[in-house]
Amino acid sequence: MIDIHTHFGQFYNNYYDPEQVIGNLIKLGVTQIGLMPTLTKNGDNVFESHQVMLKIIEKYDKQIIPILWVHPKTKKNDIYAMLNQLPYKILKVHGYFHDWHKYPKSIQSLINIARQKQLSIMFHTGGRKESYAFSYKAICKNNLDITFILAHSRPVAGTINILKNCPNAYCDTAFTPISDIKKNIESGFEDKILFGTDFPVMSAFDSGIDNERWYLNNISTLKNELGESVFSKITIKNFQTVLNNI
Ligand SMILES: [Zn+2]
Repeated sequence: MIDIHTHFGQFYNNYYDPEQVIGNLIKLGVTQIGLMPTLTKNGDNVFESHQVMLKIIEKYDKQIIPILWVHPKTKKNDIYAMLNQLPYKILKVHGYFHDWHKYPKSIQSLINIARQKQLSIMFHTGGRKESYAFSYKAICKNNLDITFILAHSRPVAGTINILKNCPNAYCDTAFTPISDIKKNIESGFEDKILFGTDFPVMSAFDSGIDNERWYLNNISTLKNELGESVFSKITIKNFQTVLNNI
């Protein structure tokens, strides 16, 4: 089972220790972990997070799918330097939190880097119009050689529209309501959905949540509501095309 969307680091009042996050996910049955840090508003911890990631990869190697979360002000040369040190698979863009719509040049530069380094780009979707899934349609359509992952699938109508028009687009299930995942499947896109959870930041929104229990519930809801065959697609099979070199 692959989880393409997990975090380590400081998030509001909680610090999520990477070793603990990874250990818990392995215990929960995840065999490959799409892992990224939690970036600050001004992105001043990109490099520090990269240092942590270097140590993680040294220890866990292929169990981790490393994701480089960048800020619009992260310099191109610094991104290249980090990519040269560590074989990141995905570049993460949080359009809502980091106001990427104000930096069209940074987006273009990131697309160029993704193309050159053969990386996928993960867009956080939701929050405001400029970071709704639909806002990324032109980018997905104009860069068919790059794989895009619409994290959270928000809103689902716009996500479906992109999946319909862009064979290179996928979406993940992090915090996606089961009703939206079903809409997506009913529209014919069960091959384009990737399992992701945002583990373990759910406890930052509700301190009463037991993360491990939440995770197991999430898995059983998906299995029960979607059936074993779709579940196995979104947790394993669909990744074969997205991350074919892992
Ligand atoms: Zn996330």
